[in-house]
Amino acid sequence: MESPTFAAYIIPMTFKDLSIAPAILKALETKGYTKPTPIQEKAIPLLLAGRDLLGCAQTGTGKTAAFAIPILQHLYADASTKSGPRKIKALVVTPTRELAIQIDDNFTEYGQNTHLKNTVIFGGVKQGKQTEKLKRGVDILVATPGRLLDLMQQGFISLKDIDYFVLDEADQMLDMGFIHDIKRLLAKLPNKRQSLFFSATMPKNILELSQTILHNQAEVSVKPEQATAEKVSQAIYFVKKGDKSKLLIDLIHENEGASTLVFSRTKHGADKVVRTLEKAGIKAAAIHGNKSQNARQRALGAFKDGALNILIATDIAARGIDVSELALVVNYDLPNIPETYVHRIGRTGRAKASGIALSFCDSVERAYLISIEKLIRQKIPVVQEHAYVDETVGITAKPKQNSGNRQRRNSNQGKPKKKWGQRNRN
Ligand code: AMP
Repeated sequence: MESPTFAAYIIPMTFKDLSIAPAILKALETKGYTKPTPIQEKAIPLLLAGRDLLGCAQTGTGKTAAFAIPILQHLYADASTKSGPRKIKALVVTPTRELAIQIDDNFTEYGQNTHLKNTVIFGGVKQGKQTEKLKRGVDILVATPGRLLDLMQQGFISLKDIDYFVLDEADQMLDMGFIHDIKRLLAKLPNKRQSLFFSATMPKNILELSQTILHNQAEVSVKPEQATAEKVSQAIYFVKKGDKSKLLIDLIHENEGASTLVFSRTKHGADKVVRTLEKAGIKAAAIHGNKSQNARQRALGAFKDGALNILIATDIAARGIDVSELALVVNYDLPNIPETYVHRIGRTGRAKASGIALSFCDSVERAYLISIEKLIRQKIPVVQEHAYVDETVGITAKPKQNSGNRQRRNSNQGKPKKKWGQRNRN
């Protein structure tokens, strides 16, 4: 008889192994989480032990639960949350409204069997409903920076009882110009607290900011390139800028019914794509900062429910999108910041699923592609056969393309095509 391999002795870690309270474990079971993700496995024990944490992880790795579970557990065990008026004991600050709503929803779900209360505040809507909830009392507050400072100034929020502070998506926070808001906020936090700092990327200015917040911190890192390489099938389409909308229409038809998130670099560009798709009879909606909060929530709701298959988003608006069945990400424009590419494709292939990310690259974006491939340390396969191939873009990437290929590609115009997955797995 063959002796069992070493792997046979390794038993995967469960949430129970992380000493999570039964009330929270039950909620995780209800959510269908069977085992912790790598960031949860690493971060939860450190946070339960009271350490500050510097987390390098993008959305999609399960980082929300990695910080929400220990916070809930600490507060659940804290006798002061069980009597007297509720005080805000935990504060999570995150850059976008969508992300804030999502984090708040997660707290509600993971804390459903506890006595704890959480709420969310963000700008762009009237404050009345938010201040009502605050007046009734909450233990955990999730907030975007502007509305938080505003309501603090108006006296609706005091941070003097904060024991747990999370700064989420720090790199995005600085990109959006929130640094002064963050500094004002930090000045109001009690010194004695547990602090958690998450960022998808760790350039120098982010590390410097983290040092002003954290004390004797532990560090955990889930490398973006791991997430990229392991879960998401990627492909590049070399295409002229003017042909991108036609190529998008082709891809949508090829992947009919697939929930598809299309990234546009600009708000104006996102609206233009929606108009072009609508002219072609394809139902789509855009979400970006110029849309009202209600319009954004409506579009996002329809997309999550499956009533709408195609959503066009700018990077900032897309940060909070968490759709478990998201099948396809299309980069209509390649981002000039390579980390943004990693964020974008992280929208698909989330914790459980695997996904596909297709990127359009015109001659101007060729340089962006080179930086992206350097960051993720892999070459993204180029789709050789599609109706709008622009061979001039790929010249440096594929110097040996022969004329036979070219003929085949051009003769492909107008012919029915296989789906992306079929074509590339052949
Ligand atoms: P996040 O990175 O926090 O945005 O989480 C990404 C997605 O993973 C969300 O849809 C979570 O509900 C899901 N998720 C988080 N933790 C787990 C887990 N342990 N098992 C399965 N799904 C999870």
